[in-house]
Amino acid sequence: MFPQNKIIIITAPSGSGKTSITRHLMQTFAQLAFSISAATRKARGMEKNGLDYYFISEADFKQKIQQGQFVEWEMVYEGKYYGTLKSELHRIWQDQKIPVLDIDVKGAIHVKQQYPESCITLFIEPPSVDELKKRLESRGTETPESLDARINKATYELSFKEHFDKLIVNDDLQKACNEAVVIINQFIHCH
Ligand code: 5GP
Repeated sequence: MFPQNKIIIITAPSGSGKTSITRHLMQTFAQLAFSISAATRKARGMEKNGLDYYFISEADFKQKIQQGQFVEWEMVYEGKYYGTLKSELHRIWQDQKIPVLDIDVKGAIHVKQQYPESCITLFIEPPSVDELKKRLESRGTETPESLDARINKATYELSFKEHFDKLIVNDDLQKACNEAVVIINQFIHCH
């Protein structure tokens, strides 16, 4: 079926399990294609340019902003820019697939405003801020300062949850994945 330029957006505060749910959806539905964002941060670990992100310089990023090449862009972390390229969405639509955007809360709201009819937004909610704190602590990647910064950002992002089409509380990853599959299955098949 022709996907009619649909868009799926998955957003959440950091540590909500968004990446795992996104991966599960990509494995479940052949019709979906991950939208590769442009970013100015450095590649981490096994990340590959053109696969995880288009890693570009800040100067290049700013030029693309000027040229109107982004659907949305945000400075997600201090000094680090992330954005969805129009060319990326067109590439995926041309392949007759539906782009899946894993982007932050503000970016999600901006894309939804531009494509109100053909776009679905899923917000993955952690069971509680306390639980989120525990998960981030057990990941062991945070300093006390960066943990505080992430918790503050998460609390702020949670205040936007009513803006999204569907809320999934991730208190059990398997259950959350199943819920996401039901929602996306319906979205793919609706006209
Ligand atoms: P990370 O640096 O850990 O890969 O990503 C940090 C955050 O940036 C994640 O919450 C991710 O969803 C968000 N992000 C990734 N790409 C984009 C994008 O193109 N636009 C926006 N607004 N956020 C993005």
